[in-house]
Amino acid sequence: MPEPLILSVFLFGIVWGSFLNVCIHRLPLDENIVFPPSHCPHCNHNISWYDNIPLLGWVLLRGRCRHCRGGISFTYPLVELLAGLLAVQVALHFGLRWENLVLVVLGYAFIILTFIDFHHYILPDVITLPGMVLGILVAWSGWLAPPLADLHHALVGLLLGGGGLWAFAWLFQKITGKVGMGLGDVKLLGMIGAWMGWQSLPFTLFFSALAGSVVGITWMFMAGRDRSQPIPFGPYLAGAAWAYLFIGKDVYAWYLR
Ligand SMILES: [Zn+2]
Repeated sequence: MPEPLILSVFLFGIVWGSFLNVCIHRLPLDENIVFPPSHCPHCNHNISWYDNIPLLGWVLLRGRCRHCRGGISFTYPLVELLAGLLAVQVALHFGLRWENLVLVVLGYAFIILTFIDFHHYILPDVITLPGMVLGILVAWSGWLAPPLADLHHALVGLLLGGGGLWAFAWLFQKITGKVGMGLGDVKLLGMIGAWMGWQSLPFTLFFSALAGSVVGITWMFMAGRDRSQPIPFGPYLAGAAWAYLFIGKDVYAWYLR
């Protein structure tokens, strides 16, 4: 793919990244994502368009509000950067085709869920439930080839992903008397099953559990983190499912050999 085209896709991505930031910060508070326009969380001052330019705005302001000098979280440019890179990744791997935009939408839903879960320990229904429906619709439309699921695999994936994890969470709670997993995780795995079929579930569960344990244990040692504190699991589910899109087939082939 020619470089100017890659750059255009990247710019397209970071502009949408600004919108993802709005969703990440407003959805958990039940705020409108369109109105009011962007404003500083400290002094409420409206943010001018030139300070709101994706990536550059934050860098030029060195992470501080122009008016009150209050700190602006580095997660803003990070989300924009991720959104840009994700769009490029989809274009390079799956080709620059209109129907592949739905994969970018899926990736952006994963980004929103990841950052909200890290901050608030929730995975809002307003993302996961439409996510399930969209996954089934995409499967039904037959637009996208594997690793996206066909309708049959998508429906089984939705039931097994949502139902299976729900049963596991229920059992875990019965045995240990503790809430190990939120219903948000259950709905997210249902959404993943709806998009990528039941075949994606073993991969997603295995690698999310692996990554979650490694990070959780490291964190416990480094920061002396309290064991009883919740560890968000959504980011690992989303990350593992996203990896499945790109390397799932190869990993299964390697494992079966
Ligand atoms: Zn301010």
